[in-house]
Amino acid sequence: MPLREELEHFRDLGIRDVYIPKRPAGQSADQPALVPGSMADLGALARFVDGCRRCKLAGSRTQIVFGQGNPDADLMFVGEAPGRDEDEQGLAFVGRAGQLLTKIIEAIGMQRDDVYICNVLRCRPPNNRNPEPDEVASCRPFLEETIRLVAPRAIVTLGTFAAQALLETDEPIGRLRGRWREARGVRVMPTFHPAFLLRSPERKKDVWEDMKIVRDFLAGK
Ligand code: URA
Repeated sequence: MPLREELEHFRDLGIRDVYIPKRPAGQSADQPALVPGSMADLGALARFVDGCRRCKLAGSRTQIVFGQGNPDADLMFVGEAPGRDEDEQGLAFVGRAGQLLTKIIEAIGMQRDDVYICNVLRCRPPNNRNPEPDEVASCRPFLEETIRLVAPRAIVTLGTFAAQALLETDEPIGRLRGRWREARGVRVMPTFHPAFLLRSPERKKDVWEDMKIVRDFLAGK
């Protein structure tokens, strides 16, 4: 029964106060929660996510940035959230940070098309502010389903936010990076965000160290 009719029904019964439980994050009135493991492939997941209004970012985004790349990739990159360029183009990591990510991928002998690239959030936070906990909670099922469907051998998280969100920790990136962690049964290498490297190029050598560990693992070394 629509909410209005239901409330009118209670009013007609003389009931003046109704208790409406808070809806769990990730659910909206007319949009179902994702049942983990229910999507047949990334196309089905993209259709499920299409038009999402499960969090407040729906009101400010231009479009959803679902993620892109090889659906059978051995290596997956997870960033924070779309920026302005990504929001405009509907593709992850296409701005300046994305161009540096391309170089990072090529440095380990791979191409962008070989890997899968997505973000913790699929919609741009206004003015690139940090993602908020309810937004992460709403989007997390999509990230987890993406990981299940791509089933990469390794994930590289880019920056503090992606590492902390995926690994569900508040350890700083300086301590997290450079060592294998684990999430959803997949090994995870946290490293610095390419946008941070644009501001602090002296940290590129750290990312190179992290990426060599990833390259050697993928090569079976
Ligand atoms: N920064 C991110 O974390 N993700 C993008 O897609 C672009 C910039």
